[in-house]
Amino acid sequence: MVIEMQALADYIHIMSKPTPKTRLFVDSDIGSGAIVSPTNDQQHYLTTVMRLGDGDAVALFNGRDGEWLSQVTMTGRRSCDLVVSAQTRVQTVGPDLWLLFAPVKKARLDFIAQKASEMGCSRIWPVRTDYTQVSRVNDDRMLANAVEAAEQTERLDVAEVMDYTLLPAAISALDDSRTLVFCDEAVAGERLHNAVDVLAAAGPISRAAILIGPEGGFSADERLLLQKHENCLKVSLGPRILRADTAAIAALTCFQSVCGDWTA
Ligand code: SAH
Repeated sequence: MVIEMQALADYIHIMSKPTPKTRLFVDSDIGSGAIVSPTNDQQHYLTTVMRLGDGDAVALFNGRDGEWLSQVTMTGRRSCDLVVSAQTRVQTVGPDLWLLFAPVKKARLDFIAQKASEMGCSRIWPVRTDYTQVSRVNDDRMLANAVEAAEQTERLDVAEVMDYTLLPAAISALDDSRTLVFCDEAVAGERLHNAVDVLAAAGPISRAAILIGPEGGFSADERLLLQKHENCLKVSLGPRILRADTAAIAALTCFQSVCGDWTA
């Protein structure tokens, strides 16, 4: 009983504090009393950009232990540790939603990684298709974008960033219980149904992979491969040809609003 009262008092104490504006993803384990050493970049961000000092609050998450409140302890003029005090949110599981896409050039690739993360994707997977122009993808940069977006959106996990993979290998790695949402513009004489109607008719979908092609579109061989794939829904995103980054957001929006976590 005494313990319950104490827990309640702690809870009220935590909840009465203003939510810290600064939220950081860290690799280390987080628990009451833990001392977390931020990376050099994070220390620079906390002390120089945000101008935080002793006692200022920072929210922490690591994708495993929920979200915790911590306080800055300065260890030098521009360096600090974070002392963890109490848990503010328990870990939850986000949607099992992957985005497979043919990468585009730098700024728009950053944009796709950020937006996929904001939209709740659990995995971001660049795939090389017949008409993809990009030969290398900087995984670290994509991950940094995914982390920054996770910090900003208040999600409790960070999307996994996969290595750049040939499309057929990525497709054969999907297991049959994952619905492949293949976004394609209609070829001559073809009538495609729009993503909202197709997803609504498909019923509940618990695991999905949305696929967006390159600026040059998919090749005939790729279209055959994709349509032969078990559990594939070929969908249209409307009558206009969208750029790949716009198409990714449009498809994620349709998915999240028809069968994803916007419906929860
Ligand atoms: N093949 C096109 C451009 C491809 S746009 C051309 O060069 O004319 C890049 C990707 O965005 C496409 O492969 C597709 O996955 C997606 N996309 C763009 N507009 C779309 C639409 N109206 N419906 C479905 N997918 C679309």
